[in-house]
Amino acid sequence: MLSKEKDCIVVIGCGRLGSTIAELLSEERKNIIVIDKNKDNFINLPNNFSGFTIEGDATEIDTLLKIEISKAKILLVITDDDNTNLMIAQMGKNIYKIPQVIARVYDAKRESIYKNLGIDVISPTRLFTEKFKKITV
Ligand code: AMP
Repeated sequence: MLSKEKDCIVVIGCGRLGSTIAELLSEERKNIIVIDKNKDNFINLPNNFSGFTIEGDATEIDTLLKIEISKAKILLVITDDDNTNLMIAQMGKNIYKIPQVIARVYDAKRESIYKNLGIDVISPTRLFTEKFKKITV
């Protein structure tokens, strides 16, 4: 599916965060594929969304093969579960050799695990804490 697309960005999870990022990328006219295990969540995307949507469980290899994930330039793994994100991010990095893999991790203590695997991490918990410190001091 990605074969005709250049520099495709794959977003796993189309909830509150994934749909917001997907909307941003769509506005920037990026080539984008969004995967969610529940197709009802695609309702979060804007009407003029320019990317592809695929319903599927991204922990299943069949789902990833269907979109030819190894051709992605960036993999953004932003489901609501740290273990799921770590598993998919590892597959993206080690099996499919995607150049940049970015994952959401709630448990800030686990950031180093991801970093040691070469996975970029964004932690909402850490971002909240840092912002809290900034606005209260
Ligand atoms: P949110 O926390 O609102 O950003 O939503 C997280 C999204 O991740 C939800 O829409 C879930 O359906 C989706 N999600 C959770 N696990 C998986 C999975 N294994 N594969 C694909 N999507 C998932």
